[in-house]
Amino acid sequence: MSVVKGKVALVTGGASGIGLEFARELLKNGLKGVVLVDVNPILGQKAVTELRKEFAPEKVLFHQADVTDKELLEGGFKLAVQRFNHLDIVINNAGILNDKIWEKEVAININSVVVGSLLAVDEYLPQFCDGDESYLVNIASIVGLDPFICVPIYSGTKSFIIGFSRALGAEPHYQRTKVKVLTICPGVTDTPLISEMSGRNLGPDYEAVLADEVKPLKTQPPEYVAKGLIDVLNKGTSGSVWLVEGKEPAVEIDFP
Ligand code: NAD
Repeated sequence: MSVVKGKVALVTGGASGIGLEFARELLKNGLKGVVLVDVNPILGQKAVTELRKEFAPEKVLFHQADVTDKELLEGGFKLAVQRFNHLDIVINNAGILNDKIWEKEVAININSVVVGSLLAVDEYLPQFCDGDESYLVNIASIVGLDPFICVPIYSGTKSFIIGFSRALGAEPHYQRTKVKVLTICPGVTDTPLISEMSGRNLGPDYEAVLADEVKPLKTQPPEYVAKGLIDVLNKGTSGSVWLVEGKEPAVEIDFP
């Protein structure tokens, strides 16, 4: 039986790509309910309609919020607790790749992950999880470990997530409260973040970067990352886990 059975999850950036697949895979594995938090109401409604057709409609909720606004983000946490009575898994997945608007990129990829993580580990998970274990999952990227394409601000934000989550997971307090902190580092994945990548996402040499570095990249399906997350949760792994199709999932640091 999967560890996610009967649990309640919140997924930021849950209206598209990897976040939407996380929600679907968690529901397939017996999740009691999920709140998708996303800034985009059109994608949000589409995602909810899709998931409600596949699973019981009452299991899927959408909360429109820009994750950089703490109050709006926390609204998603409150909704989960109000509607499902508990909250056990928080996935900080919302992220953008656009080094040309780097302040916004930093605000979404770093600030909101810090705020969402602290809300999860300090307040909601210890207070509202059902049973012993709860999970904070932060989504980084392999470019946070290996900058093989030239998107320095994006890579830096993902390195931050890896370091921050590692320190949080090693914190004795959270080990005592049994909040497991996990970082997933997907390889290049076929989502709008990659397919809509264009010059506006890259630095000044974007045409060369696109031709030499981005176009030849082999992508993996978001389903691969979502299934990988379930495996990692079921195995009880913690630390930073690489999920790159064709390679064994590698754990960078595994906490006790
Ligand atoms: P995506 O663009 O398909 O989905 C991102 C979602 O986040 C969208 O629904 C978008 O509306 C939402 N979002 C963006 N800004 C937001 C905000 N301020 N508030 C709330 N929601 C917001 O992208 P994806 O590829 O599924 O990316 C998901 C995560 O995976 C990101 O953190 C990304 O950095 C990471 N990642 C992606 C890849 C890849 O190759 N696609 C690889 C490694 C890591």
